[in-house]
Amino acid sequence: MFDDIPGSLAQIRTRIEAAARAAGRDPAAVTLVAVSKTHPAEAVVAALAAGQTIFGENRVQEAAAKFPALRDAHPAMRLHIIGALQTNKARDAVRLADVIESLDRPKLAAALAEAMVKEGRRPDVLIQVNIGDEPQKAGISRAEAPDFIRACREEWSLPVTGLMCIPPAEGDPRPHFAELAALAARHGLATLSMGMSGDFEAAIAEGATHVRVGSAIFGHRA
Ligand SMILES: *Cc1c(COP(=O)(O)O)cnc(C)c1O
Repeated sequence: MFDDIPGSLAQIRTRIEAAARAAGRDPAAVTLVAVSKTHPAEAVVAALAAGQTIFGENRVQEAAAKFPALRDAHPAMRLHIIGALQTNKARDAVRLADVIESLDRPKLAAALAEAMVKEGRRPDVLIQVNIGDEPQKAGISRAEAPDFIRACREEWSLPVTGLMCIPPAEGDPRPHFAELAALAARHGLATLSMGMSGDFEAAIAEGATHVRVGSAIFGHRA
């Protein structure tokens, strides 16, 4: 964990602003999701003290252990679930999250729809697209994405607000970000969660509304 979380946060915010301006975009149109997975609650507290309110966790169990107590003390804080979600964790995710960014298959769509009825809570949902069609990666395939987006909204009546992707680790991510942006635009979806520590500036250039930055804020994960 970095010992200067406020300093690294300030640097990331400066880089986000510069990337937005360079792209002719309003810096306020880009939201920083601070990815605190594997880091202790103290790291989240340090970020909160530096004005960061939106956090991302990839595992529901870890979020459930870390966040409720913090949220009691900091009512403004918001939690995004960004990792692969098992259907048997759908209800916990709906109870905990403000945004679920990793909807990627019909079974999970059905589980989330049912969980939202049972919990009486409707966190925003993003559909994760496997934008590089990588076999090992989560996300709905590019070919299936249009039908899946329609089904999530029309059949399961989920509050889908946008798309999320993790581009291939190798090569230029920009064409993948551009493709996700085009797909979102075709479906009238305003939220684009793309860009991590290594590529958030490229994602902002292609229209990211949310960047998910972990190690550049909190340090390397164990
Ligand atoms: C861990 C993670 C991030 C943050 O990655 P960094 O490279 O540490 O910034 C972003 N998105 C998802 C889905 C993640 O799992």
